[in-house]
Amino acid sequence: MGNRKDDDLLMKDKEYLWHSMKTYSPDTTMVVEKAEGAWVVDQNGKRYLDAMAGLWCVNVGYGRTELAEAAYEQLKNMAYFPLTQSHRPAIELAEKLNEMLGEDYVIFFSNSGSEANETAFKIVRQYHQQKGDVNRYKFISRYRGYHGNSMAALAATGQAQRKYKYEPLAPGFIHVAPPDLYRSSDKKESKPEELQSVKDIDNVMTWELSETIAGVIMEPIITGGGILIPPDAYLSGVKEVCEKHGALLIVDEVICGFGRTGEPFGFMNYGVKPDVITMAKGITSAYLPLSATAVKKEIYEAFKGTEEYDYFRHVNTFGGNPAACALGIKNLEIMENENLFSRSKKMGTYLKEGLLDALRDHPLVGDIRGKGLLVGIELVKDRESKAPLNVEYLNQVISGCKQKGIIIGKNGATVAGYNNVLSMAPPLTIKKEEVDFLIKTVSEEIAKLIQRKKG
Ligand code: PMP
Repeated sequence: MGNRKDDDLLMKDKEYLWHSMKTYSPDTTMVVEKAEGAWVVDQNGKRYLDAMAGLWCVNVGYGRTELAEAAYEQLKNMAYFPLTQSHRPAIELAEKLNEMLGEDYVIFFSNSGSEANETAFKIVRQYHQQKGDVNRYKFISRYRGYHGNSMAALAATGQAQRKYKYEPLAPGFIHVAPPDLYRSSDKKESKPEELQSVKDIDNVMTWELSETIAGVIMEPIITGGGILIPPDAYLSGVKEVCEKHGALLIVDEVICGFGRTGEPFGFMNYGVKPDVITMAKGITSAYLPLSATAVKKEIYEAFKGTEEYDYFRHVNTFGGNPAACALGIKNLEIMENENLFSRSKKMGTYLKEGLLDALRDHPLVGDIRGKGLLVGIELVKDRESKAPLNVEYLNQVISGCKQKGIIIGKNGATVAGYNNVLSMAPPLTIKKEEVDFLIKTVSEEIAKLIQRKKG
């Protein structure tokens, strides 16, 4: 139990604070007061291994004082100036991101993943207009994907349960089924032309009329929608289809970026070069708000008129805040110096294999999948029907883990009961013994489900 001061805090929380997505954890409120490494400490001093890195974002782990110092130094020296003009931290971070992306990109900064995607939609629509292609306004995205909370990013989102109370959203967004290696006929090694999920996009572009399609937006791996790893050739197949129809490919790296999947960016697992790349979360490991929209230089060039500057009618007051950029540069330095991308691959494989060893034969475990430190366990009523297990069982696993001091997530799609994927995305700095603790605890809690189901 908490002391009086803590009880006061909880009372005030209930009185004054409107939480995001409280439906995800309706039972209790954790007031997190301290955090270090992969661990957070609540108001009662209880420690938890944060196997979700906050909201899939604290990639370098908590408590990195060098990040705080980078922001502090920048705030002292020059706290703010808008990017209608320029400043050194933004220039240097843009240069660094371009280098990481393999050159050829210019960077527009904002503050959140949603804004980065809104920016991308506007750039892509205007790009086509700059080229005289004035009818190209439609975007294709996938069911189960999430792209943000604002009216166009939500329109791109393919999770009906998050949207229907706020409609009508921005018009011009069309959804197709995501690739799903567990439930569809697509195979991991199939060629692009064999993949139904790629053919669907090709067909939709034809039926909708190619010259009305502006672009496609997709995460390299659907994360919040249930950690859906695509077939190897999916992304390159989509890129080819985009080129065939004159559309641009926007890749949303908000979660997959900055080492989450074992590569600097998720698309790098699949050998494509997207036209536009959006990123947030891991860019500062969430220490300060920052996001970016990276755009191929040739697209940017189309915005230049006869004058030297471009014609993009879009301003973002806080975007590219100097302290956030300075911190972002330091954050990327840490990732490189500590080899966090390869570490994510190594530890992610260790986590996935540990879970497979422990749970391979469990009748309620339909699929265990992941790339890097992004791992999901899909729970089913039985392996033959693959019917999704009721969410109350997932909640039992999550509560059991929480009692033992581990935070894991639950993802998928609430519609039709597909809220049946347990998710894990810990800081990339997670230690081997912490991964062991995670494997042991999650498997024990899942094992209990059979006993409960029998009982
Ligand atoms: N895209 C993806 C893939 C995301 O997961 C999120 C947030 N979880 C967003 C965009 C939106 O980011 P933000 O919450 O920073 O607006």
